[in-house]
This record gives sequence, structure tokens and C-alpha cells, in this order.
Amino acid sequence: MRFTHKTANKQNMLYDELTGIYNQQSFFECTSYMLEEHPDTSFCLIYWNIRKFRTTNDLFGWEAGDQILVQWAHTLQEVLKDELAVYGRLDHDNFLCCVTEDFIQNSDWTKLGEISYFTGETEYHFYSCCGLYRITDLTLPLSNMIDKARAAMETIKNNYMALYAWYDESMWNALLEEQRMNTEFKTAIAEKQFKVYYQPICRSSDGLITSAEALVRWVHPTKGMISPGTFIPLFEKNGFISILDRYVWDEVCAMQQSRLDQGLATVPVSVNVSRVEFYNPALCDDIRNIVKRHNLSPDLLKIEITESAYADNPVQVQEAVKKLHSYGFSVLMDDFGSGYSSLNMLKDLPIDVLKIDMRFLDNLDQSQKASIVLESIIRLAKWMKLSVVSEGVETKKEWDYLRSVECDAVQGYYFYRPMPQEEYIALLDKTAANSTNLLFHTSTEFDDSIMDIFNQTNTMESVLFYSMLGGMGLLEVCDGEIELIRVNNGYYETVYNTLPRERKILNRPFQEPERSFLIEQCRIAKDEAKIQQFQLHHRREDDTYVWLNVKLRHLGGSSHRSLFLFAIDNIEELKKAERERYVTNYSTVLLKLFDRVYHLDYAADTIELLHASGEDFIEPRTQYSSADFFKHLAEVTAPEDLEKLKIIKDKTLLDETLEKQHTNCLSIHYMFRGNVAVTDTTAHFFKADLPDGSEHYLCCVKKNV
Ligand code: C2E
Ligand code: MG
Ligand code: MG
Repeated sequence: MRFTHKTANKQNMLYDELTGIYNQQSFFECTSYMLEEHPDTSFCLIYWNIRKFRTTNDLFGWEAGDQILVQWAHTLQEVLKDELAVYGRLDHDNFLCCVTEDFIQNSDWTKLGEISYFTGETEYHFYSCCGLYRITDLTLPLSNMIDKARAAMETIKNNYMALYAWYDESMWNALLEEQRMNTEFKTAIAEKQFKVYYQPICRSSDGLITSAEALVRWVHPTKGMISPGTFIPLFEKNGFISILDRYVWDEVCAMQQSRLDQGLATVPVSVNVSRVEFYNPALCDDIRNIVKRHNLSPDLLKIEITESAYADNPVQVQEAVKKLHSYGFSVLMDDFGSGYSSLNMLKDLPIDVLKIDMRFLDNLDQSQKASIVLESIIRLAKWMKLSVVSEGVETKKEWDYLRSVECDAVQGYYFYRPMPQEEYIALLDKTAANSTNLLFHTSTEFDDSIMDIFNQTNTMESVLFYSMLGGMGLLEVCDGEIELIRVNNGYYETVYNTLPRERKILNRPFQEPERSFLIEQCRIAKDEAKIQQFQLHHRREDDTYVWLNVKLRHLGGSSHRSLFLFAIDNIEELKKAERERYVTNYSTVLLKLFDRVYHLDYAADTIELLHASGEDFIEPRTQYSSADFFKHLAEVTAPEDLEKLKIIKDKTLLDETLEKQHTNCLSIHYMFRGNVAVTDTTAHFFKADLPDGSEHYLCCVKKNV
């Protein structure tokens, strides 16, 4: 049924542009009107959502997605055309309908929940889930009724077997609870109410801790501990999850950094990435930036991606996994086998670890089939060179079984429950102290004996270092600052051309741009683990410069501190020769452009020929007095041309004329009468003021042939 509206120009604002049925506003207006007009009829409100609509868009494209929505609207129109009902599109893939209870009870309305879409070759079926609310209290605002129908729909959103759910009051409480959590989120983040718990992951063969998983908990000031299963789906809906996930990653990195800074052992920690993150193109860079900010190597943070994220978003997940890999992160496929995907998908995904869903273990006792499936997954993973972690190991029997089928690692209550950070750190310390062959990462703290060599003046090594031919030294990059720690005698000889009276270290910090340049060279030497070689225009203590050739090698360090050995050569002579070669090359090129070049020296009243092209038989560097020069010029130039050229006789006049030329060049055209022919010629006059205050005038002559 459609309600007629009085004004035609309102038409476009009433209907949803895409589907042509009511939009949200007119649905509200018409439903309120219908309820008022039929106070004695019992009505129900239905809220539909199309399942996996996002995937549909990804798979078939937006246009196909639009067509499906249009078709959906047509089905509604078709089925409800003779009913007392109002229907419309709320937003995206959400539709609403208010219809009589009689219709719900006595018709096959559930077929509204399924539509088919024909691509031209294949027919696809799409399903919806919906929530129903029986309107009992007409005083309730319509928006409130819609919330109730939606709350009912939410309860079956992930249950593919259920077509619809009726609203009951418990759902309302859940909705209120959700709203409360949403409003409390910002404070909870600001007050650090979210705590990261750590659950160790152990090597299957001997139970040794090899890594851990970070699991978030909300330690609420009044409600106590809330588990992630309660709030994560909610924050995935409203987008807060991206704030929460980044908070967790940051906390984990801070913990890792603090372990390394204290020189303590640690293991990689895997973090969970919500499925909705894959709609965010900045995801991989965000992870990388957090790790970088804490100065960590990417192998200390592993990334868990849940299998259902891949099912939702195969293309984006695949791209993200590849990118994370290229950034050096290991990627784990979480909850593998929980139902959405097939083993086939593994061939397209460069993941490193399979985490087998804990439900496999639940069924092991009852069904032989479960163990066959589990064993084949493990075997397949081995062929694909993936390592396998089994989640939810609760008994010794399960562990024994997993060991027997060569599952690499285990995680579960039998070994450790998720624990607060302090407890986890204490466990790491205890394990590190008791174990000699732990798979722990320690910081690559350099051996202190390196420093001893330079500190003790009487050791053989130290004598060798200080008297080594050529400049050498140690420098340290610490928290973005660079500092010279030790230098040998050769360093002073190389940089200052003298031996120091005392072995003092120069403690003036490096200036920009040298500082940033050196830090970058150190970074390359460290990351690429090779000797880095470069030329440096080094600013000395007295603000003069020297050219050095530097070789740099990374010796070791901790996460925020790195030590480098360097060797230097003085390449001043080399640079000078290079510069001269450069100047000579350029002047040769410039002179080649002209047939003759004269230098006018007004102070000495002379004119010197600097260059003459090959066909002229005059020696360059021939000097004329200006009188001789003009005498000669008069012989080879017509009187009217000579008049023009006389301007150069008078320096002041030349200066004035040059100033008027915005090109700073005065060009005079004249005919040159040689012995053989008359040639059309141009003389260009330039003036150059050099920094030493001297003035130079050039006259460059070119025959125009
Ligand atoms: P998950 O990533 O599969 O994590 C494993 C879950 O199994 C954890 O539940 C863990 O406490 C639980 N578990 C571990 N061992 C056993 C065992 O032996 N028996 C049983 N029955 N359970 C075990 P938890 O901590 O409640 O986390 C639930 C889910 O919430 C996680 O599943 C993960 O998907 C999500 N989650 C947790 N923290 C975060 C987070 O920081 N960000 C995101 N996006 N999701 C998170
Ligand atoms: Mg996980
Ligand atoms: Mg899991």
C-alpha cells in the first residue's frame, strides 16, 4: 500500500533514489499515520538486513549490489501490494516494514528473506536475517520500536540457520547495555581500563614458551572484568575497535620495548586484528608505525587474522597479508577450520602460521572423523611449510595427542591461562632464569669487551687501535642522537692534519644537515647489516670544512642504542682535483660556443684574448692595449659599426647600458671585414662581479653563419 501525498514536488524527497520505495523519513511519517488511522489493528515491525552484503559488493561489484537492493524492493512491493503495510529502505542494506500481525501469522512472509540474482550465467541466492517487534504500546516513539526490531535481528546475525527472531525484553536490556558500553568507551580508553592479558604459546615437544598472545580485557570500575567476547562485536559495529586494537598493539610494543631496554629476555607476541580493520587501507602502515615508534624489530610482533575476516573480505585480506609480510611481520591465521573457509584459500595467502580452532579438540573424543580432519590439516600445513599452533589445549591427553601428530605449538589452559602483564613478565623472568636453551630474543646488546679495548690504554688491542694508520673511531646512535665515543690518533691527523696533544673527545654535537645524514647512513648500515661507505663534507670544530670518505659498520646495541665502528680518509685533494676537472670541462664547453672571447681589464687598460676558435691564427692570452685594440678594430669594421662598438671604450657608459639590459648582456651586431670575406658578426658583452669585489668584463664574439 502506498500513501498519497499532496504535493508532487515533494515526490523526490519521499522515495529512496535507488530502489524507488519509501526512504527513512517517509517510512516514519507513513507508518505513524497508518498506526493512528488503525488503532484497533495489531501491527508488527520487521527489520531486515541482507547477510554478507559487503562480500556481495566485493564479489560482483557495486552495480550488482545496487541491482540486488532494487530487486529486494521489488519483492517487497510485489508481496505487500494488497496488504495494509508501509515499507521502505532505512539505509545501506537495511529495510523496514510495518505490517499487520494477521499477515505475519497467516502468510508465507518468510520468502521475503530470500532473493535470487542472475548474473547472466549463474543464479545466486541471497538471504537476509530479520527481527520482528509486535507493536503493543502505541505511545512508544517509532524509532524506539525500530531499535527493538533491530535488537532482535542482531541476535541471529551470525546464526545462518535462523531466518528471523522475535523481540523480547531481555534483548532490550542487552541493547541498553550496549549503549552504555558505547558511551563509556572513550573514558575507558583515557583511564586505561582496558588491560592487555598475555597467554603464552608453547613448543609442543617440550612445553617451552616460544611466544604469547595478547588478549584484551575491560576491567570496568563497577562491573569488574568484562571479556572481549562481550565488547568486541559491539565495537566492531561502531568502529571503536580500531581505537581499541591500536591501543592494544601500542601497549604490547611498549612492554616489548621496556623488556629490551632493560636488557631482559622476551618472546614475540601476537596481536589480534579485527575483521573490520580490513576496510581500512592504512591498517598495515599503522601497525608498522607503532612498531617503529617503539624501535622494535617486526619479528617481536606477530599478527593474528581471524579466518572469518578472510571469508568476509578475501581481496583486502590477501593484500594486507602480503603487505605485512613485506614489512617483515609474521602473519597467523586464527581460528582456522572454524567453518568459513577451505584449505584451498591457503594457497593464495602468504601466511606463516595456522592456529587451529579449539573446537577441533572438543570433538576429538567423540569422533574419529575430527582427528582425521585435524591430522590432514597438520600434514597439509607441513607440506606448505606452515607451522601449526593448536588453541584450547586443556588436558595432558590433548597435548600428547597433538605431539603425536606433530603439531608444532600449543596454547591453552593446560599450560597457562591468559594473565595480567605483571604476572606474565614475572613468568618470563622465571623461565629465562631456569632455562639455558630458551628460544628467547634478547636484545643484541654488544659485548662490553669492545668498550674495554678502547678504555684500557695498555692493552695490545688498544695500542693497535690508537696507532692504527688512518682515522678510526666508535660512534653511538642513541634515541635519535649521534655521538662520537672514541677516536684514534689517526682521526685527528685525518680531520685536522695534526696530532692532538691530549686524547680528548670532541663533544660538540653534530650539526644539521650532517647529523641527519649520518643517522640515516647508520640506519642503513644497521638494517642492511653491511659496511656503509659514503663521502661526508664534515664541519670541523672551528667551522671550517673537510671532505672525508667514511666506512661504517654496525657492531650491535639494544633497541634504542646502536654502536658503530668507522674508518675515515681525508679526500680533500681528491675533491679539489675533481672540482678543477669540473671547472675546466665547463669552461671548455662555454668557450666552444664563441669564436673569440676577450677579457676587458679597465684597471690595466688592456684587452686580453682568452680564446679563439681553431680557424683564427691568433694565440690566446695575447694582450692588447685598448688603443691598439681599437686601431685594429677600425681596420676591420665599417665606420658606422665602429661607432656602435665604441661604447666599450667608456666603462661608465658600458655599465649604464648593461644595467638597462634585463638580461645583463649587451649584444652588438656588426659586419667584420676580413681579408677574404665580410662576415655578419655579433659581440656579446657580459659583466660579472665576483665575491672578492673584482669586476670582470667579457666580450664574446660569434660569427653568424
Ligand atoms: P582468539 O584470538 O581465538 O583467542 C583465544 C581465546 O581462547 C581467548 O579468549 C582465550 O582466553 C581462549 N582460550 C585460551 N585457551 C583456552 C582453553 O584452553 N580453553 C578455552 N575454553 N579457551 C581458551 P578471549 O580472551 O575471551 O578472547 C576471545 C576472542 O576475542 C579472541 O579469540 C579474539 O578473537 C578476540 N580478542 C581478544 N583480544 C582482542 C583484541 O585485542 N583485539 C581484537 N580485535 N580481538 C581480540
Ligand atoms: Mg587470536
Ligand atoms: Mg583463536
